Amino acid sequence: MNKTTNKIRQDFLNFFEKKGHVIIPSSSLVPYDDSTLLFTNAGMNQFKDIFLGQKKSDYPCVATVQRCLRTGGKHNDLENVGYTSKHHTFFEMLGNFSFGNYFKKEAIEYSWELLTSKKWFNIPKNKLWISVYHDDDETYKIWKNVIQVPSQHIIRIGDKNNLKYNSENFWQMGDTGPCGPCTEIFYDYSNNSDLDDSLEFLENKNDRFIEIWNIVFIEFNRISKTKIIPLENKCIDTGMGLERISAVLQNVHSNYDIDIFQILIKNIAKFTKIKDLNHASLKIIADHIRSCTYIIADDIIPSNEHRGYVLRRIIRRALRHGHKIGIKEKFFYKLVSNVIEIMGKSGNVLKQKQEKIEEILKTEEIQFSHTLDKGLKILNLEIQKTHSNVLSGKTVFYLYDTFGFPVDLTADVCREKNIKIDYKNYELCKENQKEQSNFNKKFYKNYNDYIIVNDICTFQGYKKNKVKSLVKYIFVK
Ligand code: ATP
Ligand code: MG
Ligand code: MG
Ligand code: MG
Repeated sequence: MNKTTNKIRQDFLNFFEKKGHVIIPSSSLVPYDDSTLLFTNAGMNQFKDIFLGQKKSDYPCVATVQRCLRTGGKHNDLENVGYTSKHHTFFEMLGNFSFGNYFKKEAIEYSWELLTSKKWFNIPKNKLWISVYHDDDETYKIWKNVIQVPSQHIIRIGDKNNLKYNSENFWQMGDTGPCGPCTEIFYDYSNNSDLDDSLEFLENKNDRFIEIWNIVFIEFNRISKTKIIPLENKCIDTGMGLERISAVLQNVHSNYDIDIFQILIKNIAKFTKIKDLNHASLKIIADHIRSCTYIIADDIIPSNEHRGYVLRRIIRRALRHGHKIGIKEKFFYKLVSNVIEIMGKSGNVLKQKQEKIEEILKTEEIQFSHTLDKGLKILNLEIQKTHSNVLSGKTVFYLYDTFGFPVDLTADVCREKNIKIDYKNYELCKENQKEQSNFNKKFYKNYNDYIIVNDICTFQGYKKNKVKSLVKYIFVK
């Protein structure tokens, strides 16, 4: 019998507890006191100040199961959802961390023991491949000499001469903050284990080889685009996607085929006539309901800016996919209880907020349903009309402004039809509208200030030079 996802999560924590780690709860999806980050994107975020030496940790090493969201900034996987088998917007990251305690050798040994020992995950060693940062000889030697991974399975990545891949294997949380070289562990989904050279590995990295675990050697603080400075304490930060290791241990190639996603997907399929459980829209809805449920549980509500707009965009995107597969009823909020059930212990944070989450999603769905259908009709007509395979920025803006279509929702529809979007003109239209609205605001403010005299001419005379155009506007209106 395969291990369930909930068991795998618990096994991970048990393993690291046995290795002397203290188990710390996941932090919120909303980073605490960190303006550089919209949402928590990795297990290490809550320890950022400790890595930077600005705060002392209560413990030398800890382990967590961190809820993460990757929908913007340095780590944005929103566009990948529905197109790759391994990316979610929301996922759980299993991580062990050392704060100036153990370093490279122990971190690598722990990961190898958990993945390969019979007592734990029991993955055949020849199915695992390793990448190391190109000039990190120390790490290379640990894998080769201590762990005894054959050298064909250890690939150096990030070589400056190999531009295509040179941004990899140096992990950074964002544009600034803790960072360092890393070593990653990949699972080989092919039965054919022969490869000629490392380039073949790199070329197949997205499908045949799935990255399951990243071990980062936090040694630097990035303070600007071009400058990194060394940190006093060398720390370990690791992250393994729970859904990815579940796929490996449950012998399936896609995260969407693991136990918890299959339950959710089957449940969503009940709202449609779709029989093919592989349908991308089912996966996207399953992914998005998880993120929305967790985002609202962390006290974000849909709005038109900042985090609230990320949430709104995800909800609307999911609703569009519901529409695409013919769901007629209000369905999205009805999936919340299912999310809570499948998430096991991690679902505990959702339980008390279930009603609130359902209420918010339902309201948002009702509101968007008024414009979704009409907007889609217009979008499809416009797509038919385009000759150049590019949808005009004006149309994208019109859909945004009048029908509440976030630009990525429009882009998602267009992508399915091989149509591109004129982002530049869309931004221009948006900018123009902003200017107009600022102008209006200013005008009304001034208008209120001076209308007390109730005489346009006095008003005009009073601020003649400055508000000429405003006054003109009054007459036009
Ligand atoms: P990839 O190259 O596959 O996009 P990554 O290198 O961006 O992954 P890391 O930042 O190293 O990912 O995060 C650590 C681990 O978290 C990864 O090894 C992977 O197992 C998991 N992970 C990363 N992004 C996602 C995602 N969008 N959905 C699910 N799991 C993810
Ligand atoms: Mg990534
Ligand atoms: Mg990667
Ligand atoms: Mg990685």
